Amino acid sequence: MAEKYQNYIDGEWRDSLSGETFENRNPANWDEVVGIFPKSGKQEVDKAVAAARKAFNAWRLMPAPKRGMILKKVGDLMTQRKEEIARLMTREMGKVLAETRGDVQEGIDTAYYAAMEGRRLLGHNAPSELPNKMNLSFKIPVGVAGIITPWNFPMAIPTWKIFPALVCGNSVVFKPASDTPATATKLVKILVEAGVPEGVINIVHGGGSSVGMAIVQHPDVDLISFTGSSDVGSIINSSGGKDLKRISLELGGKNAQIVMQDANLHLALDGVLWGAFGTTGQRCTATSRLILHKDIHDKFMDMLGESANNLKLGDGLIESNQVGPVINEAAREKIHSYIDIGKNDGATMLTGGEFATDGDLSKGWFYKPTIFVDVKQGMRIEQEEIFGPVLSVIKVNDLDEAIKVLNGVEYGLSSSLYTQDVNNAFKAMRDINCGITYINGPTIGAEAHMPFGGTKRTGNGHREGGWEVYDFYTETKVVYVDFSGKLQKAQIDVEYE
Ligand code: NAD
Repeated sequence: MAEKYQNYIDGEWRDSLSGETFENRNPANWDEVVGIFPKSGKQEVDKAVAAARKAFNAWRLMPAPKRGMILKKVGDLMTQRKEEIARLMTREMGKVLAETRGDVQEGIDTAYYAAMEGRRLLGHNAPSELPNKMNLSFKIPVGVAGIITPWNFPMAIPTWKIFPALVCGNSVVFKPASDTPATATKLVKILVEAGVPEGVINIVHGGGSSVGMAIVQHPDVDLISFTGSSDVGSIINSSGGKDLKRISLELGGKNAQIVMQDANLHLALDGVLWGAFGTTGQRCTATSRLILHKDIHDKFMDMLGESANNLKLGDGLIESNQVGPVINEAAREKIHSYIDIGKNDGATMLTGGEFATDGDLSKGWFYKPTIFVDVKQGMRIEQEEIFGPVLSVIKVNDLDEAIKVLNGVEYGLSSSLYTQDVNNAFKAMRDINCGITYINGPTIGAEAHMPFGGTKRTGNGHREGGWEVYDFYTETKVVYVDFSGKLQKAQIDVEYE
């Protein structure tokens, strides 16, 4: 019997007002229903926003170090339940256990970082231009935060947003992806158990254009933090932007790994296998392009083709499996549609390009790791985010050409260079136009305490993770204290020689 889940609004677990529900199935075995969830809409969002607004005042007045201690407890509870959450996440969205454990760990790291940030939230002070006057700046919360998240990191991404939002004193209305509502509910249960007061955290389940858009358009939601596709990000930006909401967008990627002729090829091979086929290629930071120097192209492709064929596909709950299914039928169809697109554009398919259906794979959305060679800059498989286990390989003559190819897409999230030449490494660090560059590491592997995000159509300039995200969840309040006992006019009563 599948577990029945509810929304959490104003401190109460509730069904949708209509009583309607939706199912969530295991992508590795579509016969298994992971849970049944309330199909909600604008009315539930209205209630959640009203609750968040009501709760905001008391929450903002709680000392930030005390809010931080609640986040510390959240981290402790997540640590205790790491395995249970990872297993649920694997059943819900398919990635292998080693990766879902990592996803939970990222949330734990984010909780402990947030806990200590409650004791920091630093402002500035600066000398006044006038005597007997003091100038200070503080961080103050913004208000009600609308949080909308994708399914591929069902724990890490919500924690990147919700934890700093809460520590800064904002209240939250959270809409998770409808492919991963169970993991999201686990997170909210932990927040409640750790002591987040009623109304401060609310979760509303349902579709993007209904629940998500109702959050974006609600006049009492002050800020929106969204991670997802660039197309939806653009819709949210237009809709929320006209009401002058504060909006953070973390969007798509078309990330590349460059391998130079002097690279350690075994290291580069491990990097591309993990970068391209980890999470079945469904990471915003996945390596979907491999840019090879012409001198090592053929040798490297011999190594890579064989290794990709040997990857073990299957249910992520079985520890020996390396690649899980893709998220759902529509995603598999989209991925598959790129096979003809690549061939018609003149690329050569080296391996993969079909559903994996043998034996235990027959009831899941499995897709064979796929590699295209002879890919040229500008082909659609080289430009568009496929979001699956499909790698496009481009041959180049030198580092300048490699960087030009790497930069020649509309996204700018992650990037990687394998080389042993220190001059090339520093040139790439300077010239690659992405939010993240790895030297001798794959395009994936962000750490919770470092800023995360991308340039160009990957976002709108904000960063998650680390210290920068705290600017997004706060306003800067400047206070001038004049203790001179007389009217002193800035710029006017200042005497400069
Ligand atoms: P998506 O854009 O389809 O959905 C993301 C979220 O937005 C979901 O909760 C969805 O229900 C909601 N949504 C959909 N339409 C909406 C609308 N009109 N108004 C409001 N909300 C709406 O993305 P996805 O398929 O869940 O995730 C994959 C995408 O996310 C990829 O493009 C990937 O690159 C990107 N992603 C980016 C990052 C990053 O940090 N840059 C991280 C992970 C994933």
